[in-house]
Parts: sequence; structure tokens; C-alpha cells
Amino acid sequence: MQFTSESVEALVEQFTKLPTIGRKTAQRLAAYVLKMPREEVVEIAKALVAVKDRVKYCSVCFNVTDHDPCSICTSSKRDSSIVCVVEEPNDVLALERTNEYRGVYHVLGGVISPLDGVGPDDLRIRELIARTQAAPASDQINEPGTAYQPTAPVKEFILAMNPNVEGDTTAYYIGQLLKPFNVQVTRIARGLPIGGDLEYADEATLSRALEGRINL
Ligand SMILES: [Zn+2]
Repeated sequence: MQFTSESVEALVEQFTKLPTIGRKTAQRLAAYVLKMPREEVVEIAKALVAVKDRVKYCSVCFNVTDHDPCSICTSSKRDSSIVCVVEEPNDVLALERTNEYRGVYHVLGGVISPLDGVGPDDLRIRELIARTQAAPASDQINEPGTAYQPTAPVKEFILAMNPNVEGDTTAYYIGQLLKPFNVQVTRIARGLPIGGDLEYADEATLSRALEGRINL
């Protein structure tokens, strides 16, 4: 089916560029936009342009932010001696939703994946290693006009990449790189989902759960 309006057809074309949006969904969205009040459509258009014009990467943790450094890196309530290393900004959102974590982050921008042509140099790994040396000079902290300095040297890196081959490879690689530094490196514990049943867990999950067992 094609719309008889070239403008609507052009909008459908644009929507299909987005992930998970097929042609049918794109047509449904375009039909919905047609019925929306003009002001609401303008708000959507403005928000789309704003993410491209205003959003940048935090120069400390490489999360997306409007202000550099980001609000997590500059928060006095966060412990900058603990750095959780994640793949993408969405992982920060997921961890923040738990309301448990009080440290800061480092966003790699992906994982090592030779099949997709992604190597260590394509990720923020060099910048991660640099954070081990970021011991602050106390008189520089938070002085106006000076570059941002973390308030504490890093004591622990928590590697929180996804539990798959690429995530594990990346975690191993980073773990090896961090070995010469006097810093603790941990990998998030993985195992059975809370409320899950041992008998329904797949072997990989179960063996992981065994490997990751802790002393009681
Ligand atoms: Zn940041």
C-alpha cells in the first residue's frame, strides 16, 4: 500500500530507517502523526534535532550528556573510586534503575567483536586505562575554570559487560590490561534469576552460578 501523498510517503520512508520499524509500523506511525495536533508534532521534531545538536559525550565516563562532565561524574554523592564499566549508555540507565549502585561509570561504546570489525581501538579502552592514573591534586578539585578532576583515585573497576562471547572477551581483555595497576578488578556475578528454578536454568547459567559461588 502507498499513500497518495508524497509527503506522507516520505515520512514513512524516514520511519523505516529506525531499528525495529518495518514498513507496516512506519505507515501506522505516519497515519498517527497526521492526526496529531501540530504543536505536538513540532515538539517531536524539536526533540529529534536537539539530541543531535545538544547531546555530547561526557569527557570522563563517555556517557551521553547535555553538560560535560555529566551529572553522575560531578555528583558529590557518588563514589568516584568505584568505576562500573559498561557497553552502552543504556546499560547505565539499567544500573541506575536498580538504585543500588553509588559509584561512577565508564561507557566503552561497544564490545570487542572481530566478526563485526570492532577492535579494542574502536572502544574507549585507552581512556579507561587512563583513569587508573587520575590521582587528583587536591588544590585543583572543583576550582572554577580548571578541568574536572575525580575526587578519589580508582580503587575498583567492576566489569559489567553482557554475559555473551563478546562481553566475556572484552572483560578478559580489559582485565589483562588492568593487571599491572594497583586496582581491584571484578566481574558482575551472574547466575540464576531471582525467583528462578534450578531445573529450568540452562547449563551455561548453572555453571556460571557455580563458578561464581561465594563463601557464606
Ligand atoms: Zn560522566
